[in-house]
Amino acid sequence: MLTTQDFNTFNFIDFVRQNPDQHECFELDIEQGKAVFHDAGIIEFKPGQVSDQYVCLSCGVHGNETAPMEIVSDMVRDILVGTQTLKVNLLILLGNPKAMMQQERFLEFNLNRMFNHHWKSYLEADPHCYEALRAKRLEEAVKDFFEQSPDNARRYHYDLHTAIRASKHQRFAIYPYLDGREHKVEQLALMQDCGVNTVLLYHKPGSTFSYHTSHHFKADAFTVELGKVKPFGENNRTDFEKAETCLRQLVANNYHFNNDRVIDDMNLFAVKKELLRVSDDSHLNVDDDLANFTEFKQGVELLSDPQEPYVIESDGEAIVFPNNKVPIGQRMALLIEPVSLG
Ligand SMILES: [Zn+2]
Repeated sequence: MLTTQDFNTFNFIDFVRQNPDQHECFELDIEQGKAVFHDAGIIEFKPGQVSDQYVCLSCGVHGNETAPMEIVSDMVRDILVGTQTLKVNLLILLGNPKAMMQQERFLEFNLNRMFNHHWKSYLEADPHCYEALRAKRLEEAVKDFFEQSPDNARRYHYDLHTAIRASKHQRFAIYPYLDGREHKVEQLALMQDCGVNTVLLYHKPGSTFSYHTSHHFKADAFTVELGKVKPFGENNRTDFEKAETCLRQLVANNYHFNNDRVIDDMNLFAVKKELLRVSDDSHLNVDDDLANFTEFKQGVELLSDPQEPYVIESDGEAIVFPNNKVPIGQRMALLIEPVSLG
């Protein structure tokens, strides 16, 4: 299927395009260890020397978010060829091959709402639901990968995205809910080194891929928004250079994690409140395409409702993901506020 002669011209994205459904697992010996092609869009690299670092890099969970796929594809080629050093156990995932082929965010459902076993209810409704089957397969892949790691090993998962919506901060990351564990300065510092200076600390369990690996495998995990959505070939790769450099250092095991970094200049936000639609009259007084992290002044009536309006309580409160078109009981926006780790 693939031989060492093909490495120089190997293109992970094209390979997934040619094998979007599934393929037989096959292993290749490479100069620096082993490459295991598990399934469509799922490659595991095992380094020649034992490592207690387990790094999962996922891209293309949304099929039209091309820049991270291009970065990861180049890294895969360079590991195969030997120009990218491999010193960690590495799992590479291209999340949604079929949506990628159509340059769509997803075929039927948002894949990044299906992890932490949420795919089960979608499969009950439709046993052929592509995204649900894919979420199930990706969960198996991360389980097989992280379960090889000893208890005291380090596990990381960076789920790489680009955003459609405008944002006051072009690059930002979501630090999933930690189930009581503490946020790590070294991880925030890594985000900063990736060029991501805004992080939202999430407040509750969810169905995202990064929460899944954080929750089930105690991985240091993030959803990382690295820039704007553009078609394949139109990304300005220098916009992503910092992130790519850090990811390559991680894979070479020469990124220096620093728990003592001063991160005062980082924009850290925590969720203050979920703004829910409580009645037919609930209305957010902003457009749905409002840029994420838009801040408001104290006194602004952000959410109108006869019973439960929300008026901004202090300057600097901001919102992300506004949506006026949700049914009663669902979330219209997340209200966030600046915090420090203290
Ligand atoms: Zn995305």
